[in-house]
Amino acid sequence: MTPCGRWREELIDHALDQPASAALSVHLATCSGCAAALADWRARMGQLDAGVRALVVREPAPNLRARVLAEIGSGPTRFPLAWGMRTAIVGAVLIASIVLVTYGVALKKGGAQSTALASAGAALSHWRAPTDVLLENTRY
Ligand SMILES: [Zn+2]
Repeated sequence: MTPCGRWREELIDHALDQPASAALSVHLATCSGCAAALADWRARMGQLDAGVRALVVREPAPNLRARVLAEIGSGPTRFPLAWGMRTAIVGAVLIASIVLVTYGVALKKGGAQSTALASAGAALSHWRAPTDVLLENTRY
């Protein structure tokens, strides 16, 4: 059942309905391995073709239309009470997170502002006008 390596590709093409070359035809008449491999591949191709044909002609279930229309006619699905409770908990956690983040940012900003004000105040306490400096250093 093992084909000769030299003829393998051409045998596959021939199994897929490509015409065989004269050399392959002569070889197939004398080599039982290649002939058996070709017969096996053709049998498998037949099985695949039959499977594909069966899939193509398959009809949907006879009650499919009625089932789809019944689902459409039943209206929207109502969520059970547990769904509402879960939504409320998630909403509360979300609101608490937003409040905490906002409060934390406000605290951080306030701290940064007070530090900046303190350093600006310290700088101003040592600030002297340029004219004062000039008058002190140059004694007229
Ligand atoms: Zn062969």
